[in-house]
Amino acid sequence: MLYLVPTPIGNLADFTFRGISVLKEVDHILAEDTRQSSRLLRHYDITTACTSFHSHNEHRRLSTLIEEMTDGKTMALISDAGTPGISDPGFLLVRACIEADIPVVSLPGPSAFVTALVGSGLPCDRFYFEGFLPHKKGRATKWQKLSQCEETMIFYESPYRIVKFLNECIENCGPDRMICVAREISKIHEEYIRGSVSEVHADLSSRPSIKGEFVVVLAGASNSNI
Ligand code: SAM
Repeated sequence: MLYLVPTPIGNLADFTFRGISVLKEVDHILAEDTRQSSRLLRHYDITTACTSFHSHNEHRRLSTLIEEMTDGKTMALISDAGTPGISDPGFLLVRACIEADIPVVSLPGPSAFVTALVGSGLPCDRFYFEGFLPHKKGRATKWQKLSQCEETMIFYESPYRIVKFLNECIENCGPDRMICVAREISKIHEEYIRGSVSEVHADLSSRPSIKGEFVVVLAGASNSNI
């Protein structure tokens, strides 16, 4: 049996009761980064054995993990923060479990993109999740396609590239397209910066330093003046 367990994206109080009890009860926790997860596990007094499962070893570990779960071992997959599989490892393991007839239980819980989308004030009846844009190859072509996208779009971005992202957004979607940049969701310095792309760009680029984690929610081409 494999459980997919979302973990808090900042505020430890956002962990669900069910998430905590599953992590206490399974035989083994697979964590993207065991050191990163140890703070959360200690906070909730979770003493279950924990090993690493990340993008560099997921292919290698797959067959052993499937054998162990076939033999009856229960496992829970967690990522550093949020929902496993969303811009994080998970998909390969879930697919392998399904192919091996191992039950997969996906728990509801925190994910940065849903929280940002709902708080953005932009339409959330239909949306397109992009996650991280490719750094170089294919980025320009991707922007051309995205500029035509009718639905609200969601991106993950780092503090080092957020201003570059907004510059590209102005070039491809125009300065008046509405946008919301959600920074440090659920943490002490949480903020939602809303406005036209040029307004949000002016705000962020005037800051002496840009820190934290970012989700960008961009209005679709059909909602450009909402
Ligand atoms: N699996 C995670 C989820 O469900 O949201 C996403 C993992 S992805 C590797 C990490 C990115 O998510 C960060 O670079 C940032 O763009 C976004 N993110 C995670 N936590 C955040 C937070 N508290 N505030 C804003 N963005 C966050």
